[in-house]
Amino acid sequence: MHTVGVIGAGQMGAGIAQVTAQAGYRVLLADVSKERADAGKSGIARQLARAVEKGKLDAAAADQALAKIETIDGPAGMAKCDLIIEAATEREEIKRAIFAEVGKVMTTSAILASNTSSIPITRLAQASPDPARFIGVHFFNPVPVMGLIEIIVGLATSNATVAAIEAYAAALGKQVVRANDAPGFIVNRVLMPMLNEACFALGEGVATIKDIDLACQLGLNHPMGPLTLADFIGLDTCLEITRVLFEGTGDPKFRPAPVLVKYVEAGWFGRKTGRGFYDYSGAEPVPTR
Ligand code: NAD
Repeated sequence: MHTVGVIGAGQMGAGIAQVTAQAGYRVLLADVSKERADAGKSGIARQLARAVEKGKLDAAAADQALAKIETIDGPAGMAKCDLIIEAATEREEIKRAIFAEVGKVMTTSAILASNTSSIPITRLAQASPDPARFIGVHFFNPVPVMGLIEIIVGLATSNATVAAIEAYAAALGKQVVRANDAPGFIVNRVLMPMLNEACFALGEGVATIKDIDLACQLGLNHPMGPLTLADFIGLDTCLEITRVLFEGTGDPKFRPAPVLVKYVEAGWFGRKTGRGFYDYSGAEPVPTR
């Protein structure tokens, strides 16, 4: 495997492009436009510069990694890739449209992978040219820091595809777990009900944002509280995953909390939009209620 395409240059796509380039692969990075892909690459440059400043990376390695990332004008340019990882917005119709477009140009040996947090891989594979070469590769945020990749094996995913992805993950220095194709896979099946419950607690006036977070952080010995984590993941993404869990299982315990729905309707998606449960416009995050 030599060239890896990454579609979606947001927080996850940029992180995936960064660690893939750092592992020595050539990376083609696409988004809805060349400008968006370039913005993603600029973010990667800032991340690498920060790592150099902190003494975690030497300047030559940072330059080398950045030089391996080429931004391109839309997913249709993915013909040269051995592996294509889709990390676009968590909406099934967007992902399906991307797979149809990429499917027209990808080679007959290339693997198509989705970084979806929750959409069934077996179903998504139907929008790809060859379900045997389709797989879920679920990275965690921030990608350069988090050591895990969940590999989701669809019903039709071949053993050769699984082996190729495990080799890629190993080259990135990530630990792999295999999950079967069930709603939320492993981590989000467990995590999202907790974040959603924190939203219910907020909506029902159990406590303030600050106290819900502090209670869970210190009481559960978590590195951050659930509302901070939800802001970090993106409230839009959290809502989409919760909806997939709800619809995929039919179990009312997964119904999205009204507060989460409201924040997303307001466009307050968390850190990436500057406001979610906290306001990120100042030096320190400030709770919004
Ligand atoms: P994001 O909003 O930061 O980035 C999404 C990017 O996709 C945007 O830059 C957007 O312009 C781009 N995009 C939208 N439509 C596109 C198209 N048709 N073609 C190309 N690019 C397109 O979101 P994110 O947090 O990076 O999430 C991306 C994916 O990763 C989602 O599937 C999400 O569920 C998954 N994921 C997110 C996290 C997390 O913690 N945020 C963790 C694991 C997986």
